[in-house]
Amino acid sequence: MKKLLLATSLLISSFTPLSNAQEVNVYSARKEELIKPLLEEFETAQKVKVNLITGKADALISRIASEGQFSPADLILTTDVGRLQRAKEMNLLSAVDSELLQSKIAANLRDEDGYWFALTMRARPVMYHPDRVKTGELGSILELADAKWKGRICIRSSNNIYNQSMVAAMITKFGEEKVQNWANGFVKNFARTPKGGDRDQIKAVVAGQCDIAIANTYYLAGMLADTDTENQKIASQLKVHWPDQQGTGTHVNISGAALLKHAPNSAAALRLMEFLASDSSQQWYAENNHEYPVVAGVETSALLKTFGDFKAEDVPLQQVGELNASAIKIMDKAGWK
Ligand code: FE
Repeated sequence: MKKLLLATSLLISSFTPLSNAQEVNVYSARKEELIKPLLEEFETAQKVKVNLITGKADALISRIASEGQFSPADLILTTDVGRLQRAKEMNLLSAVDSELLQSKIAANLRDEDGYWFALTMRARPVMYHPDRVKTGELGSILELADAKWKGRICIRSSNNIYNQSMVAAMITKFGEEKVQNWANGFVKNFARTPKGGDRDQIKAVVAGQCDIAIANTYYLAGMLADTDTENQKIASQLKVHWPDQQGTGTHVNISGAALLKHAPNSAAALRLMEFLASDSSQQWYAENNHEYPVVAGVETSALLKTFGDFKAEDVPLQQVGELNASAIKIMDKAGWK
């Protein structure tokens, strides 16, 4: 059946009139400079014009919803599985049946019905100041609810989707009750009312406001690679701790792509998705965004390697997306601002 489907889709793409296959409209929540060079490569190689609209993820999703069937958007590129899942639940996406994407991208990093696919992976470990945190003091993320961490933790607000997805992943690993108890203690240990982004938490540790921060790996890597030497200096003072290496593994999330329900140029859009999963795109994309490639055999950048190898949690990200509301409830109940 799969073979037949593939044969049919090949047939469709080879017989699609050129006028239909000549452009693809991408709505991207990734910064233009982090995706444009790849899109230009695709344009040249495939003779397809790529029109790029960039914006904030939630704003782009609302825009697609309000454009409805008249939306010119073919593809959405965004970060965090929570957002991809929201778009799916809002009935904005179209399922993709691509043998290539299915074989290249691990099952836990894509929607089981083909509604979205990961393009890069990021991890959310603990970052700590080695002068104030002893080796061996850190272990599982669950231990951060212990009173010994009182006033020592910086993390951004519960509005932030990265934290919502982190808590949702914890629910799949530890169960709702355990995660609620953890959140109650964890929030009590905050050094300050949550504010700012992930970079601000890293800066706060170095400024002495807290001893540890939870932040995505590409923020620390981005600061280390920054042309601003002040940022380099700050980031180089922190060390990365990979929580739960003895147990369930460290929380990871993705950036991904999804084909839109009313995509006017779906064949070309699918080709672009497949191009973004090619080895050379993966390498470029991961290196320039300081993220981990999702295709096996593609090397992690030298900079990310300096954080060390780690065991990532093996949680189907689709479940993480689906548990978003439960995670928010737990965070609210714990008083996580
Ligand atoms: Fe981010």
